[in-house]
Amino acid sequence: MIPVKAYAALNASTALQPFQFERRDLRPHDVHVQILYSGVCHSDLHQVRDEWGDSLYPMVPGHEIIGKVISVGSHVQKFKAGEAAGVGVMVDSCRHCDPCTGFMEQYCEEGMTGTYNNYERDKTTLAQGGYSTAIVCDERWVYHVSEKLNMAGAAPLFCAGITTYSPLRYASVQTGFRVAVAGLGGLGHMAVKFAVAMGAEVTMLSTSPSKEKDALNLGAHHFVLSTDKGAMKSLDSHFDVIVDSVSAPHDYESYLNLLRLQGKLLVVGLPKEEPHVNPFALIKNRRSIIGSMIGGTAETQEMLDFCAEKNIVSDVEVIPIQYINEAYERMLKNDVKYRFVIDISSLGK
Ligand code: NAP
Ligand code: ZN
Ligand code: ZN
Repeated sequence: MIPVKAYAALNASTALQPFQFERRDLRPHDVHVQILYSGVCHSDLHQVRDEWGDSLYPMVPGHEIIGKVISVGSHVQKFKAGEAAGVGVMVDSCRHCDPCTGFMEQYCEEGMTGTYNNYERDKTTLAQGGYSTAIVCDERWVYHVSEKLNMAGAAPLFCAGITTYSPLRYASVQTGFRVAVAGLGGLGHMAVKFAVAMGAEVTMLSTSPSKEKDALNLGAHHFVLSTDKGAMKSLDSHFDVIVDSVSAPHDYESYLNLLRLQGKLLVVGLPKEEPHVNPFALIKNRRSIIGSMIGGTAETQEMLDFCAEKNIVSDVEVIPIQYINEAYERMLKNDVKYRFVIDISSLGK
């Protein structure tokens, strides 16, 4: 077994604290990655605080993992020691259902194995995430990442990146599309970067007036305060696609109304409360609401290659692990610019 240092939540109400556990010995298809950086996703906070009602403790969060390969199992062909590699939100799935054979393992009919807050396929071992010094994972769920990209900036690609890239691709976003992004946080800022790179005209819908300059610097063409009723009204039936990355309960209808003919509200944000939707807002313009969960292994590698080609990484604030509880509080105040990333070397201090 491989001993690792980590930070964990022991229950829903106390601060994260130092924790030690062991990773499994390598199986033939396993890759052992030394973690250098781990991004901090709002889903970490939702789960640490048991906001989705399914939390398992002790919980080592973290599913935006990047580092270097230390060693590989006897049958591994994709990786060798010393290479840069990353792990995202999944570490396994049934591997034989239709979504799995189509490399959309996040929609596995038997349920994917999440990187943490999930039991492994043996149904007894608790999977543990990236706020830790190393991970052991089957090579199918380990990805190559270009060494051209900044390592800390590339960590969030493994969740915030793929979660916004996948629905934009599903909606075939391209030149000529009018895209809006609701919520300028970790996911939202990646959605802006990807939609711009795909050729769309991009509008940021934010509740934070202070983020206007940043939104434009990220490449957005317009910035609209979603709390300004008049400004929202002027965008009625305007967009082809809206990416909703909002983490707190909110009014879905105010975004739906902004969709033009056959427009799509792509929901990725996961507040704990269920949305209220008026069917009249849906039938107008034959609008649809589409949920989207991360992305499969094939699309994740495609997204990483797209980022290498276009030089896209996340805008990050690198923090030591000892700052994690303050980072969570800042996240709750919408004060993230635009992703916290933990420097895992701080775990040794
Ligand atoms: P984040 O960095 O905290 O950003 C969330 C943003 O939502 C905030 O910065 C804020 O942007 C906006 N917001 C917050 N409260 C709001 C309110 N009451 N009304 C309107 N807007 C509000 O979070 P994140 O890491 O990007 O995650 C966003 C959500 O996606 C979370 O719920 C997370 O669990 C979920 N998620 C889903 C998937 C998936 O597979 N579907 C994957 C990862 C994460 P402004 O200041 O601009 O308003
Ligand atoms: Zn995430
Ligand atoms: Zn499956």
